[in-house]
Amino acid sequence: MDGILNCTIGELEKIFENNGFPKYRAKQVFVWLYRFGSRAFDGMTNISRNMQNELSKMFYIYRPIIANVRHSSDGTIKFLFQLADLNTIETVFIPETRRNTICISTQVGCTVGCKFCNTGYNGFIRNLTAEEIISQFLAVKDYLKLWDSEKERLSNIVYMGMGEPLFNYENVLKSMQNLMYDENEGISRRRITLSTSGIAPVIEQLAKDLPCRLAISLHAPNDYIRSQIMPINNIYNIESILNTCKIYSNYHKYLKITFEYLLLKDINDTDECAHELIALLKPIHAKVNLIQFNQWKGCSFAPSKRAQRFSNILQKAGLEAPIRARRGVDIMAACGQLQSHGREERI
Ligand code: SF4
Repeated sequence: MDGILNCTIGELEKIFENNGFPKYRAKQVFVWLYRFGSRAFDGMTNISRNMQNELSKMFYIYRPIIANVRHSSDGTIKFLFQLADLNTIETVFIPETRRNTICISTQVGCTVGCKFCNTGYNGFIRNLTAEEIISQFLAVKDYLKLWDSEKERLSNIVYMGMGEPLFNYENVLKSMQNLMYDENEGISRRRITLSTSGIAPVIEQLAKDLPCRLAISLHAPNDYIRSQIMPINNIYNIESILNTCKIYSNYHKYLKITFEYLLLKDINDTDECAHELIALLKPIHAKVNLIQFNQWKGCSFAPSKRAQRFSNILQKAGLEAPIRARRGVDIMAACGQLQSHGREERI
């Protein structure tokens, strides 16, 4: 039996045609899956009983097991999902005044190994399948009972959880295609942000395949500092990343690129760093998101106390540079704090 969430609309149409079902039925099934959150075929009332039975034999509709849920005092909720192979991943729901955002994971662990990140520190286990990525969104909607809600919507998705999304490109692309499919649900490409450590050739590919909002984890104004805190910089350095960002911007002028900059005490938070960053980003249609470091056990970095000053320098030079609000710190749900748990460590 196959997981239907792993199929794009085009793939499902082909499968239906090969099995003697009308092609247009695929669209109807997609609406049940993504707009109404159906977890079984027998509730799909505009589809014949016979076809419902056949679909039940061909496909399952995947959901991970909710192994743990933690609520922050600021309303943020962190989910620990257990996958079929007993590995676990974390997903974060972030309510805000005018929108609700879900931060989803794309890998169990991460190979990139940024020195400041708890996920990277814990190593890499495997890529998530498309259905495991998509079902984080669906399972959070199930849990929060958001399917029928007129007021409350899960409006924004950020691919900023565990893992480097561009190292799992095929499945990430498929998940975005499926989540964007139903326009009525409001998940347009402007509401999806993919955050990457800067896998330059794949960024260029994304610009062609399915552009969405792009966030680059830059975290340093020069290669010397960046290579110390992000070893991936030895493969894709700042120049190569910025070159692909220019291509991305040329393709999609309306999508402003965000550069994430985690402020680490005495590493990248000096006035000189701020001025270097201004010079670096001036030629790009960019915004800088300043992030305050959230400490975790075993890491050697300290949070900077210069965030406001750093932001002022950038803003004075005309760069948009807000300090991102810290969310879910008390439940270890903030940036860089997510952890994977291997089979042996699960709770
Ligand atoms: S910051 Fe992102 S890319 Fe870097 S190790 Fe953590 S999860 Fe991986």
